[in-house]
This record gives sequence, C-alpha cells and structure tokens, in this order.
Amino acid sequence: MNELIDAHGRNVTYLRVSVTDRCNLSCRYCREKDMPFIPHESILRFEEMEDIIGLMAEMGVRKLRFTGGEPFVRKGFMDFLRRIRQKHPRLGLRITSNGTLLGPHIEALKELDAMMNISLDTLDRARFASITGKDLLPDVLENLRRMAALGVRLKVNTVAMRGQNDKELPALAALAMEHPLDVRFIEFMPMGEGSIWSESLFWPADEMLAAARRHWELIPCDEANRNAEERGPAKLWKLRDREGRLSAGRFGLISSVSHTFCTTCNRLRLTADGQIRTCLYDDGEWPVRDTLRTQGLEAVRRVILDAVASKPLGSEILARSKGPVAIKRMSAIGG
Ligand code: SAM
Repeated sequence: MNELIDAHGRNVTYLRVSVTDRCNLSCRYCREKDMPFIPHESILRFEEMEDIIGLMAEMGVRKLRFTGGEPFVRKGFMDFLRRIRQKHPRLGLRITSNGTLLGPHIEALKELDAMMNISLDTLDRARFASITGKDLLPDVLENLRRMAALGVRLKVNTVAMRGQNDKELPALAALAMEHPLDVRFIEFMPMGEGSIWSESLFWPADEMLAAARRHWELIPCDEANRNAEERGPAKLWKLRDREGRLSAGRFGLISSVSHTFCTTCNRLRLTADGQIRTCLYDDGEWPVRDTLRTQGLEAVRRVILDAVASKPLGSEILARSKGPVAIKRMSAIGG
C-alpha cells in the first residue's frame, strides 16, 4: 500500500489545494485590498491540478480540500470539481469558502457530497462589511440557511480576534444550537505578508472556552475528539442551554497557536502557484508546477517524496519565532 510517512512518523493523507489567490473579499487579517495577484501564467491550470491530485491519491492521499483565495471566483471550478468526483469517487471532498457566491451551486454541491466550511467572523452586518470590505452578510446567511435545509455537511469557521468579534462568541456558537453544523473558533495565527496580527488581537482558546462556559454547559464529544480524521484539528463539544436543550450541532475550538496539533498533522498544501508547502508556519516550498511543466509527472513524484521527508514540526517554528512565522499570504496558501 502506498503511504506518505514523514520523518516524524506522521502519515500524510490530506491535501489542501488553493485553486486561486483571487478573492471577492479583502478580509483585513488576510489580504490587503491593493495586494497584487499572482500572474495568470504562474497559476496552476485545472488539468495540472488534476494530474497532481491523481498522483497524490495514488501515493496515499484520501482527503482533499479546495480553498483559495475564494474557490468560487475561479471560472470552471464547479466543472473541475465534477471531474475530480468522477475520477476519484472515494476521495473525501471538502471546500473552504466565504459563502458569498454559493447561491447557484448549492444543489450541485449537495450532489457531489462536498463538505463545506464557511468562514464567518461576525453576525453583525456593519462589522462584516468592515472586516471583509463588502456588505454581503445577508448573502452568506441565506446560503448557510439553504445548505443546512438541504442537508449539506457544514462547518462554520470563525477567526477569533480579541476586541473585534469576541463579544459575538455566544451568537455565533448559537448557530450550532439551531442547525446540525459545527461552529469552530480558530485562534488568530501570526502569519502572512501584511498581517495585522498582534498580541493584543490574539484571543487564546482557553479564554474562548471559559467564555463559552458562561453561556452553556459544554459536553465533550469524546468519540469525535478521539477520531483525529473526523474532527480535524478541532476539539468539539455539544452545547446545553439553561433550559436543558441540547445543541443540534457542535461547538469547536482550533488552538493552532496555544496548543498546536503538529504531532498529528497529516497535511500537505498545494499553493495557487503550484508549490507544495509542508507546514502552515514554514515558508519552505517544493516546485511542483515547474517540475510538472518541464519534467513531467514522474518527476513530481520525487518532489512530493522530498517534501514529505522534510515536513517540519510547526510547533518548533512557532517556539523559535517572536513575530510572524510565514511570509506568503494566506490567500495564496489557502489557510
Ligand atoms: N475564501 C475562502 C474563505 O474565506 O474561507 C478560503 C480562503 S481563506 C484564506 C481560508 C481560511 O483562512 C478562512 O477561514 C480565513 O478566515 C482563515 N485565515 C486567514 N488568515 C488567518 C489567520 N491569520 N489566522 C487564522 N485563520 C486565518
């Protein structure tokens, strides 16, 4: 059996693909409005992505996530997804999206059995416009409502920022009371060119947990929490409100900074410009695009093996650093 095992004994089974660095939003913590985009010719073509995905599926990848930028701004993304589903019926398909452009695709996404992660940092319309640069909160909420009604598997991801959206934890987590979805708060990570990250904006997961406990009884999802494949990096709880009602969905915390999960990390990332990155906190890149274009797919296999062999422990990188840890912006890496 083909397996990608790194020097720390971790089995790489999960590939995250940034299909574009372009986005219709400019979230303040992610990319500035005037940042230039990667030139068109440097972006991986869909056929190239399909070749690389096929190769990596052969090498042991079982789960795919498409992210960006905003995947749905790239023309042809849905047809690409259909081809991937057809060629790899057993691969788990996941998409991370800001939720603004999903309207026309919801039924098709349900048919493709794609799991959707929707990034949503606030339920306040003015704050949404101020964080993202666009007044599109009603569109996101409508698309969330439609997906939940249709039974699309859903997660909501919130980047937690002290003094920005911390007061909204109860309202956002309450989405999981109503709907069978996971609402996960992610620690703000000190990375990305032009990042606004600062100690004062950082809200650690332990404090988020205490804030949630002031509103609900939290019941650990022991089984899910033991199953790293199912829960991903999040720790999950059911919520019970003061009237004794149990949440339909779950509340989760992703402590990517304060309690890293690097020892169980099973991921590789393929950036929009065709580089493999082995750790979110490391700027090391392996040139898959150029290797594919000049030497072909067999040579890419060797690049992937080299990349996996040198996959670092992000926790060690964080511990050595006092400030931002990776320069490349999140919109090109995909988060
Ligand atoms: N456009 C899509 C979206 O909005 O979900 C996908 C790309 S976006 C870069 C992927 C995720 O990274 C989003 O959930 C975003 O909030 C998150 N993100 C960006 N910068 C981050 C940071 N410094 N710390 C934690 N999460 C971050």
